[in-house]
Amino acid sequence: MRTLPGAFIEYKWAPSTEELARRVGLDPVEIIRFDGNVPDWPAASARPATVAAALARVNEYAHGGYPELLRAIADYAGVEPGNIVLGAGADDLILLCARAFAGPGDRIAIAEEPTYPLYAIAAALAGAEVGDTDPVMTFCCRPNNPTGALDPLPTARPLVVDEAYWEYAGDTAAGLIDDGVVVLRTFSKAFRLAGARVGYALADIDTATELNRRQAPQAVSSTSAALALAGLADPPDVTAEVDERERLARALRALGLEPLPSWTNFLFLPLDQPASVSEALLRRGLVVRVFENGIRFNVRDHEDDDLLVEGLAQVFDRPTPVAPAGARSTRVLRSTAETRIRVRLSLDGASRVRIATGAGLYDHLFEQLAFHAGFDLVLEAVGDLETGAHHTVEDSALALGEALDRALGDRRGIARYGDAVVPMDDALARASVDLGGRAWADVRLENEPGLAHHALQSFAQAGRLALHVESTGRDEHHVAEAAFKAVGRALRTAVRAEGAGIPSTKGVL
Ligand code: PMP
Repeated sequence: MRTLPGAFIEYKWAPSTEELARRVGLDPVEIIRFDGNVPDWPAASARPATVAAALARVNEYAHGGYPELLRAIADYAGVEPGNIVLGAGADDLILLCARAFAGPGDRIAIAEEPTYPLYAIAAALAGAEVGDTDPVMTFCCRPNNPTGALDPLPTARPLVVDEAYWEYAGDTAAGLIDDGVVVLRTFSKAFRLAGARVGYALADIDTATELNRRQAPQAVSSTSAALALAGLADPPDVTAEVDERERLARALRALGLEPLPSWTNFLFLPLDQPASVSEALLRRGLVVRVFENGIRFNVRDHEDDDLLVEGLAQVFDRPTPVAPAGARSTRVLRSTAETRIRVRLSLDGASRVRIATGAGLYDHLFEQLAFHAGFDLVLEAVGDLETGAHHTVEDSALALGEALDRALGDRRGIARYGDAVVPMDDALARASVDLGGRAWADVRLENEPGLAHHALQSFAQAGRLALHVESTGRDEHHVAEAAFKAVGRALRTAVRAEGAGIPSTKGVL
């Protein structure tokens, strides 16, 4: 093999979630990753049905490439398909550009430091040096990783602008592809497809043709191309992520910390002792990226980000500016060919509930249950709603039950029993629960909107609780709603922490 420069440092991945969990003695579900600069949850279009057609032909090459994907990218980026080069992520295209533009004896300039390390790696792999004198090309990361800054575009040409995070900034150099600029983009960030490994370059026709000649014959897999195409059918709106980034930045400032202004989905926080802060956060299951002079973390969602704020408040021994999460908390991720569900449940919450399963009425019913139980709950699902709500509701109820079971732990010290009567207009519901650990569901609903009975039964099964519910009334919505509220009220009593003992004369549950 050709010798690499002595100073060559290969790209180093952070350890796996399982490895990090082992290191600090936590369950892998308790590890929250803020270090990958990716959103917290895949797009709704990323589900088995999206790749089904590609799987049916996965024995074949995609003869003729991916003309539909090229067309969709062209429309999204405002160019023609001939301006596009596909790659296995932006990384693949960084390597391609370096080896296409530079070779031994050449110099590649890197516009700013610190920046994404792959430009220097790509230069070394191409046999070129990094330097500012007479470079054959310049790499520029805009907005920049790790700082989040959106600096002015360099005037150097040829210029390769890495726009991995451009959707968050809204500013692009795509209009300059006929002026010596190559733009690199990715589906890994705003499109939420990092694991699929799809990226693209935008360049003038001649440059794109030359890059394509030097690219691997089919760098993107057919399943990944299907995911990217489905993503482009409904391009991401990053407004919520950007708003959440600003909320997180404000919370950090309220803690007396000073994150740098960011045009991306992450924040950089300059610190004197970044390694020890990161270690302390890791002990709480919070994984951030450490740099010499600070830490970097991507925005997730309100609940996860508050855990980070709370963690930093503890590390710096300052009062937390956010509502603290309860101790009996857990997370569940449930994934089947039909649905993908995630649940975050805290039994000692303040009825902060966010439910989005797409199954209309059932979001409302789960919300009533959690709200009246006093739980903090996030329940999000992507299901095959085109087949009806059944799978989504059933799996949501199972995941919620599983979360309750996990959050209860060994069930030591809980009240165990609870009951409630809830009237609602024409409806009247009574519910009794026993959290003794044996699953049972006796659910009698005089009227039924469709899946209420099944949802409660599935919840009882996965949550290992005995549930007796009776609800009467004329209106099916009210009958179901009163039942879910009554179950919530009954649970509120049953989960109450009362002491340290096993709540059974048997001494075991
Ligand atoms: N460029 C920048 C600036 C990045 O931060 C990253 C990933 N962290 C990449 C490129 C790589 O993206 P991809 O997953 O498309 O290879």
